[in-house]
Amino acid sequence: MISLDGFRGNPILSINPRAKRIIFRFDRAQGRTVIVIPSKQYVGKVAQHKDTFNQWVDSLILKERITFSNGLIFPFKGAPHTLMVSPLDIHLKRPKVELFNAIIRVHGHHDDIRRHMKKFLRDEALIVAKILSEKYAKALDVPLTHITIKDMSSMWGRCLRQKELCYNWRLILAPSPIFEYVAAHEVSHCIHPNHSAAFWKTVAILCPHFKENRAWLKNNSTMLMQYSL
Ligand SMILES: [Zn+2]
Repeated sequence: MISLDGFRGNPILSINPRAKRIIFRFDRAQGRTVIVIPSKQYVGKVAQHKDTFNQWVDSLILKERITFSNGLIFPFKGAPHTLMVSPLDIHLKRPKVELFNAIIRVHGHHDDIRRHMKKFLRDEALIVAKILSEKYAKALDVPLTHITIKDMSSMWGRCLRQKELCYNWRLILAPSPIFEYVAAHEVSHCIHPNHSAAFWKTVAILCPHFKENRAWLKNNSTMLMQYSL
């Protein structure tokens, strides 16, 4: 297995003898990035292209950015939901976001959809982040001081000072087991501030199927990172 450590978005490596050099490409159908090399001899050279590749991924995410607008179908907790905008009801004092039957309905003005969706998605992410982090912290008997939701472009979570956790809001778009894995990962950092064998053992105690979830996240991170608030 070729290690592509440090390559943003976890690309897959593909050999194509017709390629004349190393090529980066985005497979839209799969939502993944691909590094194409002409032959096996090029495997050793891929690492030299890490910085260029990461810059290319950044520009790709910007270009392919998906923003929240009326009619958008997007994943919420792993299932497709449709965003619908309705005029603000005169009985509602404040704009409201409702979730019913796979429809997320924003009562408000079109100009404000992004602002309302930002609040809604971040609030939902925080609810899940708190439940999961507190559950895992209790299981490991570690104290947590702060749990926050952030807009990060290349990370899913962070553990600071071994007691403060922050999570990427886009985790609320992914299926629930993915958020569980990231929470188990970050809470385990409260004990092990590294990625040692002992760290992964702790993750496995909290989240026995973490390998599948970690693989899912690797394969889908480019797709999730396209969503922008
Ligand atoms: Zn980590």
